[in-house]
Amino acid sequence: MPALTEVQTNAVRELLRVAPVAVELGERFASAGCSLHLVGGSVRDAMLGRLGDDLDFATDAPPERVQGLLEGWAEATWDTGIAFGTVGAQRKGFRLEITTYRAEAYDRASRHPVVSYGDSLSDDLARRDFAVNAMAVSLPEWRAPDAFVDPYGGMDDLAASVLRTPGRPEDSFGDDPLRMLRAARFASQLGFTVAPEVVAAMTAMADRLEIISVERIADELSKLLLGRFPRAGLELLVDTGLAAHVLPELPALRLEIDEHHQHKDVYDHTLQVLERAMALEDGEPDLVLRMAALLHDIGKPRTRRKEPGGGVSFHHHEVVGASMARRRLKALRFPKDVVNAVTLLTELHLRFHGYGSGSVWTDSAVRRYVTDAGDQLPRLHKLVRSDCTTRNRRRAAALASAYDDLEARIAELAEKEELGRIRPDLNGEQIMELLGVPPGPLVGKAYKHLLALRMEHGPLPRERAEAELRAWAREQGIDPV
Ligand code: ATP
Ligand code: MG
Repeated sequence: MPALTEVQTNAVRELLRVAPVAVELGERFASAGCSLHLVGGSVRDAMLGRLGDDLDFATDAPPERVQGLLEGWAEATWDTGIAFGTVGAQRKGFRLEITTYRAEAYDRASRHPVVSYGDSLSDDLARRDFAVNAMAVSLPEWRAPDAFVDPYGGMDDLAASVLRTPGRPEDSFGDDPLRMLRAARFASQLGFTVAPEVVAAMTAMADRLEIISVERIADELSKLLLGRFPRAGLELLVDTGLAAHVLPELPALRLEIDEHHQHKDVYDHTLQVLERAMALEDGEPDLVLRMAALLHDIGKPRTRRKEPGGGVSFHHHEVVGASMARRRLKALRFPKDVVNAVTLLTELHLRFHGYGSGSVWTDSAVRRYVTDAGDQLPRLHKLVRSDCTTRNRRRAAALASAYDDLEARIAELAEKEELGRIRPDLNGEQIMELLGVPPGPLVGKAYKHLLALRMEHGPLPRERAEAELRAWAREQGIDPV
């Protein structure tokens, strides 16, 4: 007997791992005369040895029947997807989603498929996005000779690391244009290439994305960015023209090659920064860091000016870029904390420059850097270090050592002054007492003034702080007590 291929070994190992739950469920369905298959991403991921604890099943039983079959077996169930034929269940640490065979008709002008149930597994598999996602394993007898169902050659595609659609890509993308983005997302997550006829259809049909809701688009975009090979996914989006519909700022960076090639291509620089930032992550993929790396220079096309001497400048591109990033991420309905963090990182990514070139920062500038970055400081360090993509080794080493130096200064000041929680030298109560005023906006103004002094000079002795406050109060026309 031939030795098992890697794909087969993976699949067997993963199936053995999930069998206690999957086989049990398969037996319950079989004894009620219903079919059950492990399907889609679960079969694909089993073969890739990356199956988690989320399992997808397909059945001929309608959702209400599925709910009945789960009763007394599942530890918990949920019906949030029931309108689409999906019942969720939990058992022994696995999250199961059991979906009734689908055979929906698509309304090509609307955002959502019209759900209708089918009665055959093969119809269900035919409507899936890619051949590697259109395989199934029959339960409970998953070891039976005919248990593995693969009508579109998904296993061969998987071995060749390629994405193809079960039918004609034009038909598939006409049914659901989101699948074009899913192709790019899987290219990033799995490191697969996309078959040429699929790329051609994506290119021809890119504008069909217009009917897809921003939530679905943003969801795929996040998954793409969090994948292991986001460059591949992003390049595919840009090359096919899909990016123009989801993130137009990205293809716009390609226009930045000037005729003398004095300036590096901002688009390619951006993808390099992204990959360099990924290398600095602490284990887990970091959406905010990756998004900031991707967007940090998007202000460049708009701020580009030809200088009299023949050079090119991008004055204030970080400020312009920050507001462009905010607008784009808000339009994509990213959570507020993601929008704010990426905007801040974009705005601050240039601040460090100048530190390296002779002028060493004052303590006050270091304090401001730390306070302005707030809880994004660790990411800002990573972004700024990644932003150096020069091929000049000496220059790269000089920038890295200047940043080491800045981090050392931050650590030193932090130790001395607890930089993380800078407060003015007098608190609100002390301010009110000294000025003899009740709580109100004036106290806030005084507090801000003292905070600015504290930033500028570091901690002040008590008498000096009081004297400063008195002087400020007199300027405001108040007589301190
Ligand atoms: P992951 O769960 O890692 O995001 P997945 O492949 O499981 O990846 P899901 O979005 O969970 O993707 O979908 C599960 C399965 O449903 C897919 O593997 C695919 O077979 C099918 N599927 C999902 N979305 C679509 C779609 N828009 N068009 C066609 N088939 C789809
Ligand atoms: Mg899934």
